[in-house]
Amino acid sequence: MEIGRRDILLGSAALLLAPGGSACAATDRPLGYAIVGLGYYGLNVIIPQFVNCTHSRLAAVVSGDRAKAQRVAREHGLSDKAIYSYADFDTIRDNPDVDIVYVCLPNGMHAEYTIRAARAGKHVLCEKPMAISVAECEAMIAACRKADRKLMIGYRCHFEAHNLEAMRLARSGAAGKIRYVRSEHGFVQRDPTKWRLKRALSGGGSLMDMGIYSLQAARYMTGEEPVAVTARESTDRRDPRFTEVEDMIDWTLEFPSGAMAGCLSMYSANQNRILLMGDTGRIELEPATRYDGNEMWTGKDGRERKIVPPPGPAKTQFAGQLDHMAQSVRRGQEPIVSGEEGLRDMRIVEAIYRSAREGRTIRL
Ligand code: NDP
Repeated sequence: MEIGRRDILLGSAALLLAPGGSACAATDRPLGYAIVGLGYYGLNVIIPQFVNCTHSRLAAVVSGDRAKAQRVAREHGLSDKAIYSYADFDTIRDNPDVDIVYVCLPNGMHAEYTIRAARAGKHVLCEKPMAISVAECEAMIAACRKADRKLMIGYRCHFEAHNLEAMRLARSGAAGKIRYVRSEHGFVQRDPTKWRLKRALSGGGSLMDMGIYSLQAARYMTGEEPVAVTARESTDRRDPRFTEVEDMIDWTLEFPSGAMAGCLSMYSANQNRILLMGDTGRIELEPATRYDGNEMWTGKDGRERKIVPPPGPAKTQFAGQLDHMAQSVRRGQEPIVSGEEGLRDMRIVEAIYRSAREGRTIRL
């Protein structure tokens, strides 16, 4: 049943992103986004992507730094009326130019700004991880439901050509019966002052940040939901970077079919890989989930055939994500990576931490 559900989701992604879709005629005004948080991701990665979009445009910015916000607004032809601070954010409800609020803030602020945006009558695209607890995720879903607004999570890999092709190959039986997925994500986190290392703002260490990619990959490559998790953590607590959050965490997921996934995240080495093993072959991506330059191979027991995926339905994974949300709003459809999808991950994340803490397998 899970495989069926994800097949439908993948199919609907293609449908929603198909160019020239009837419900989104060329005369339709692209929907307006407010970017909340002009940091690395919001400012340097997302804002430059609107030029690649068909159904989305930048309509406002929200920042604690007025001078930066004014500079960005000027660069993108926005007036001063399109600039908000965190204090006056709620007045965004009076701005009909803003349809969707995109939350690009530290993880510990996702819930507050998602809920405030929904109460202001705006749809929400919220960065990963959805929030820092199951309770927060549930409150975000409830607020958006109550306001009748859509909620999507920034799981960009669902719009990335290599990952889409890997999912399609896995589902089509290209590797035979799926037995095991290995997914590892990490980078060297050098700056001990970063909010990512402060629990109140991050909710946790590498698992919250990079482990989400490993967990997502285990779920979208198998197309199944795990029934049990066993985790172990290794962190040098004398290292000033890791006084509040974990460095390395490794976990095993068990799936109903008998398949397993071994996942890893860390802040002390660089790694970015997904490997699916089936009883007739394998699918490997390395790097797997980067912004660009991802590579993929299939083979019987190694990297025998390099796979160049067909171009994705959008110019870039970021534009695909932004336009998918805009079209979901316009068509009144659930985004393929909805709040419920973020909540599923957060339930597993809490179980991973619990398993590592208590030294036992947690049944989900
Ligand atoms: P940054 O630290 O670069 O930016 C965060 C921004 O949030 C700041 O620049 C600031 O913007 C605002 N902010 C408000 N309050 C605070 C605070 N107390 N401490 C720090 N910043 C604050 O982080 P990123 O852009 O790297 O990450 C933001 C979110 O995006 C995270 O949830 C992260 O997980 C996600 N992300 C997703 C990626 C993906 O590939 N999907 C990649 C990178 C990040 P201002 O000055 O405008 O107020």
